[in-house]
Amino acid sequence: MAPGCTVSRLNKFLRERYLNLPQGEFCQVTYVWIAYCGMDLCYKTRTMDFTPKTIADIPEWDIIGQTEGFSTEMLLAPVCMFRDPFILDSNKLVLCEVLKNTREPAESNQRNSCNKIMEKVKELHPWFGMEQEYTLLGVDGHPFGWPRLGFPKPQGTYYRCVGADRAFGRDIVECHYKACLYAGIKISGTNPEVMPSQWEFQVGPCEGIEMGDHLWMARFLLHRVCEDFGVVATLDPKPMTGDWNGAGCHINVSTVQMREQGGIEHIDRAIEKLRKRHAEHIRVYDPNGGEDNKRRLIGCQVFSSINDFSAGVANRGASIRIPYRVAQNKCGYFEDRRPAANCDPYAVTCAMARTCMLEGEE
Ligand code: ADP
Ligand code: MN
Ligand code: MN
Ligand code: MN
Ligand code: MN
Repeated sequence: MAPGCTVSRLNKFLRERYLNLPQGEFCQVTYVWIAYCGMDLCYKTRTMDFTPKTIADIPEWDIIGQTEGFSTEMLLAPVCMFRDPFILDSNKLVLCEVLKNTREPAESNQRNSCNKIMEKVKELHPWFGMEQEYTLLGVDGHPFGWPRLGFPKPQGTYYRCVGADRAFGRDIVECHYKACLYAGIKISGTNPEVMPSQWEFQVGPCEGIEMGDHLWMARFLLHRVCEDFGVVATLDPKPMTGDWNGAGCHINVSTVQMREQGGIEHIDRAIEKLRKRHAEHIRVYDPNGGEDNKRRLIGCQVFSSINDFSAGVANRGASIRIPYRVAQNKCGYFEDRRPAANCDPYAVTCAMARTCMLEGEE
């Protein structure tokens, strides 16, 4: 048995007894941050002797950590507070920005610059909704529920389907959804995906910087829920080579003008700006400068080509899709289908706001 399995085989009933012990006025606050490579999440918990009411009640924390791959002193600056769905009220999960001891943002900290752009475009009330796709793996790295030798039935019967022969790992999806709602994350839905063991959840609409904050914390909850079940969630954009779908993180975007009557004009204008900056956007739509998306955006089925920009109404093979209902109503939002599942939502929303919403930047 792979070593990770033992974690989930610990006795959850016994665990429950201890978790039910009263904790007096004390509060466990778990600081969560994005690690130096900009992909992994880390956490560290401390006791506070009162229940924080707002983020302003949570102090900064200097800890020894890794910023650029070596141990160094760094500062965790709390930015967003959630209820803790694992050890329950009144305990908190707190998302943090990582600062160097000079108070400059660490290399992994994309939130800091994103927030500056969001401040500049806040009059436009930018809304984002992101569709996080992911794949469940056993701790041995083999897709969860797939036969040990050979493959499951080819794709075609899994997308949004039900049944023990099609839906692999539903317990995790349902528990994660509840955990997000409890925590206060703006999760808006979920569905099974095209490849078996592949799933999606949606977060949004969120305004401005909130998109990155809520999606990162939703990812933390996903990894934590998976741990309970002895399963691993990967955000790799192409976990299985061959005729198996990749995983993306579509972003849906609107400004107040796009949502108002006749807003389609503003949508079209944004798409023209995006067309001019296709290559630049591809570079920030995965954490490896576009390398990860090369494996996913291969220009077939529901995947656009990494080399070409395209846009269309109800076209799921295009870079940008205008939903059919939006084209009919002549207002609403558009969808950029290019971001990879492992993208940094701060980098993606920042690029989107800079290209489509900031005036005089052309
Ligand atoms: P799809 O048909 O592409 O699979 P989903 O239902 O998975 O669409 O996701 C739609 C996303 O669009 C959700 O995250 C939702 O929050 C977001 N969304 C809806 N309306 C808007 C809007 N006006 N502006 C930005 N995002 C929006
Ligand atoms: Mn120590
Ligand atoms: Mn979707
Ligand atoms: Mn999807
Ligand atoms: Mn989509």
